[in-house]
Amino acid sequence: MQYYSLAVIPGDGVGPEVMKEALNILHVIEELHGGMKFDSQTFDWNCDYYVKHGNMMPANGLEILQDFDAILFGAVGSPLVPDHISVWELILPIRRRFEQYVNMRPIKLLHGLESPLRNKGHDDLDFVVIRENTEGEYTNMGGRLYQGLPYEMALQNNVFTRFGTERIIQYAYDYAEHHRRKNVTAATKSNAMNFTMTFWDEIVKEVSGKYPDIHTNLYHVDALAAYFVTSPERFDVVVASNLFGDILSDLGGAIVGGLGIGPSGNINPEKKYPSMFEPVHGSAPDIAGKGIANPIAQIWSVAMMLDHLGFKEAYDLILDSIEKVLIDGVFRTPDLGGDASTRELGNAIANTLKKTA
Ligand code: ATP
Ligand code: MG
Repeated sequence: MQYYSLAVIPGDGVGPEVMKEALNILHVIEELHGGMKFDSQTFDWNCDYYVKHGNMMPANGLEILQDFDAILFGAVGSPLVPDHISVWELILPIRRRFEQYVNMRPIKLLHGLESPLRNKGHDDLDFVVIRENTEGEYTNMGGRLYQGLPYEMALQNNVFTRFGTERIIQYAYDYAEHHRRKNVTAATKSNAMNFTMTFWDEIVKEVSGKYPDIHTNLYHVDALAAYFVTSPERFDVVVASNLFGDILSDLGGAIVGGLGIGPSGNINPEKKYPSMFEPVHGSAPDIAGKGIANPIAQIWSVAMMLDHLGFKEAYDLILDSIEKVLIDGVFRTPDLGGDASTRELGNAIANTLKKTA
């Protein structure tokens, strides 16, 4: 029997509602597999915790999390606490301390889902966006000068280190090789950003040279964004800097059917520290407490966690079950045009999983 320790942070709003369904799926997988067990511990670090204690997590929160094999995160956010606190004091410290320098978003159009591109010849979308998660354009360095004067200005520094750039591009190629993907597309803008992006391009060329069997495309990010809409089936693995990856992954999410669906992984590939898996959506305060949130993004995040820990078959099984339930169309939450509850959709996926395995 293989044992894994799992830190669960359900968070606020719909977070705890969808987390419940995701953990139920994990239990079904444990039973079906028979050789793995997750020992999970839940942490109530959320905006209520902040209101009570003045911080999003205890001072030794990161030390506590450090020894877990993985972190499953719901969502944080509340009208009572500004976003910069809930995000900056919980999610960002976790990403930084645990060197989760890869942000991974699968862009896969599941059968049974609507998409703005469906029935326009783009029904077969299945790629991943790999975003650099620690440096690049989001550095918190810069300044405001000459306030109130006609030549007032704001500066925001971009930081591309060789270390940071090499490791994200290297990860993209390793991922492509490991998952038998044929091409890697790197987002650049070296025609306008002549220091950082030319450096990025150089490193793409260096790393790609080691993978003769993988085809490389280096596209300017503006053109690349257009291809997401006009010919998205050309992509297998897309790798991008922090800002470009942020934008491209949201665009990717939009072409495959909405916020309640998309999962993400904040990954420390070396497995020196725990990686964290979370839905793309937030706490959805407008529907929180009604039991109608779509649990698929959180369930898919569990599948990504299992894949990361080496259980690719479990990932495939969960995805197949989600897809079967969507094709079947009986249990759909309101965001998918139905009237099923979070519980009912979660149960339908769990039952299908038991039958599929
Ligand atoms: P936060 O500040 O926590 O990010 P938000 O106000 O930005 O919250 P989101 O969670 O990002 O809200 O959601 C945006 C919209 O998408 C809302 O209308 C929300 O109801 C909807 N939504 C988000 N997640 C889900 C879900 N799992 N199921 C159904 N609808 C969702
Ligand atoms: Mg939001």
